[in-house]
Amino acid sequence: MITRSVQTVQTNPDDIIDIRQKIAGSWQEILSQAVTNPQELLDILGLDQALLPGAVVGSQQFQLQVPHTYIARIRKGDPNDPLLRQVLPIGEEMVITPGFSFDPLGEKPKNSHRGILHKYQGRLLLMPTQLCGVNCRFCFRRHFPYEENTLNREEWLSAFDYIRSDTSVTEVILSGGDPLALNDNRLAWVVEELAKIPHLRRLRIHTRFPVVIPQRITKELLNWLTGTRLQPVMVIHCNHPDEVDADVADAMKLLRDHGVQLLNQSALLKGVNDDADVLIELSERLFSCGVMPYYLHLLDKVQGAAHFEVDEQRARQIMSGMSDQCSGYLIPRLARENAGASGKVVIAPLYSLKI
Ligand SMILES: *Cc1c(COP(=O)(O)O)cnc(C)c1O
Ligand code: SF4
Repeated sequence: MITRSVQTVQTNPDDIIDIRQKIAGSWQEILSQAVTNPQELLDILGLDQALLPGAVVGSQQFQLQVPHTYIARIRKGDPNDPLLRQVLPIGEEMVITPGFSFDPLGEKPKNSHRGILHKYQGRLLLMPTQLCGVNCRFCFRRHFPYEENTLNREEWLSAFDYIRSDTSVTEVILSGGDPLALNDNRLAWVVEELAKIPHLRRLRIHTRFPVVIPQRITKELLNWLTGTRLQPVMVIHCNHPDEVDADVADAMKLLRDHGVQLLNQSALLKGVNDDADVLIELSERLFSCGVMPYYLHLLDKVQGAAHFEVDEQRARQIMSGMSDQCSGYLIPRLARENAGASGKVVIAPLYSLKI
């Protein structure tokens, strides 16, 4: 019999958090130091001055906002970098495109309880803030009002009342904006109140923070997220394998080690990830960090984002390209959002006939 004598060095997950925060600063500091000036972004990345006028004009409609933790993953001097394309405003955003809307999901009129969107049986969206860790150029949020639009205490209480009154709801989805833009004290209170509602089973968080500012995964966050009777699910938003650096991988490991179920949703974006090989690499990297693919969304048809559009036929081809080459569980569901009541539609891949 062979006796193993390999010594494994155990790193305490809490030490990892401490080390990461000492190097990079707290997530609030990182967020407050995000680059909002187009000239500054071009300088940091050594990009051509010719990009400046478009960046300035685009930023006037929807502010440039990108933290240094994300900029560090962008290749210097490459105007076509897939991460840069998601954050740098360009002149094409000002082109008005037929069929694209200023409110593509038609969500504005029918929120009777502020912050709640209840379309599907069993789960509802609770959208407490319009703030985010990054401003993504393809997002429908680009036309929402600029002022800080966060639920106040009364509105929270009214949302809890609504959820309490509907016993068919078993899962609350904190979405946004980005719910992790709220501080941990507020979120701890919210989760405590939700856990008191007997018919709730799960708490789901839709967030791009762990990808953009992985330092957001603090001890306090782990406490409120995993110290509740509600089963925690986190759906991150990652679009390209280059977004997954060592800090993101560490943040994912921390969440997993604390029992959080991790899923990913992506947006399918021309010039970013409209390619089966890129999406396979994304799924592979995420899976190695314990994250399962969930949705791949066709673009919401929002004015200013038409240059990101991948048509449905092409999207279905990309999906079938993925299924030819990788394990079935690494393939996300292709989905489209329809305006109005019908909501999300899952679209089948375009399978080629094999004889
Ligand atoms: C996407 C979405 C959900 C969540 O749907 P799942 O298919 O469970 O991920 C819930 N409510 C609304 C309004 C949505 O758009
Ligand atoms: S809601 Fe999501 S996609 Fe839109 S800007 Fe915020 S982080 Fe980006």
